[in-house]
Amino acid sequence: MFLLPEVYIENTKKIGGNCLQIFAGSPRLWFRQPFPEAEVKTFLSGIKENNIGPVFIHALYLVNLASKNPDLLEKSVNSLIIDIQNGARINSAGVIVHIGSHLGAGFASVKDQVVAAIDRILVETEGCNLILENAAGQNGKIGSLEELSFFIGKISDPRLKICLDTAHLFASGIDLRQTESMEKFTQNLRELNIMNKLCVLHLNDCASDLASHRDLHANIGEGNIGLDALKNFVNLSELKHLPLILEVPGDNKQGPNLKNITLARGLIS
Ligand SMILES: [Zn+2]
Repeated sequence: MFLLPEVYIENTKKIGGNCLQIFAGSPRLWFRQPFPEAEVKTFLSGIKENNIGPVFIHALYLVNLASKNPDLLEKSVNSLIIDIQNGARINSAGVIVHIGSHLGAGFASVKDQVVAAIDRILVETEGCNLILENAAGQNGKIGSLEELSFFIGKISDPRLKICLDTAHLFASGIDLRQTESMEKFTQNLRELNIMNKLCVLHLNDCASDLASHRDLHANIGEGNIGLDALKNFVNLSELKHLPLILEVPGDNKQGPNLKNITLARGLIS
């Protein structure tokens, strides 16, 4: 099995993309291993040749830094350490992670454990960022703006960054369609010290309702956020410089395609 298949680069070219998010192994299996040297070389030259970047790694979906199960917590930390080590070898801009869920126990009961886990991951690695992603808030999922701000406040490491996902913002209750709500949002980002930690946006439309706390991505312009609101969002002066990664279903759940990338490019003014 190839961990860094050339199809990543081929596909990015085919659909008209210029940056990339990959999995450093199966997103649904704990098994992680260092990228083989030959694959790293091929990948790096492919990226360079095709002028693709930045490259992000998405952590596996099983990660839960808030788990009360010590085995699961250990596996989560270890998988992130290997992902970051691999990220450093391919000059990745960072490993993006869903922090996990307190499963109803409440944020207060897990927050110190999460801080300790993130601290350990950062201490045991170097050369690649760890990027916390905001959550829609389903099933005790951690990652509201306030919770992200808490972690930033507790952990001073400059390698700790933030990713905001438009579908998660919308499902968490932030109405990207309303000017007033967007003004409050950007003010919030500043007050919570998130603004200067942002390094990437996940640009997805949302198939679920505002404040539904359901994480359902839709193709660009086909969800409840809509083209106008997404356009407004990516052109906010505070966010305009950030790379955009699409995690849309595409056709038949094949993922981002030319149509979605073209629509996304058309949003940028
Ligand atoms: Zn996302």
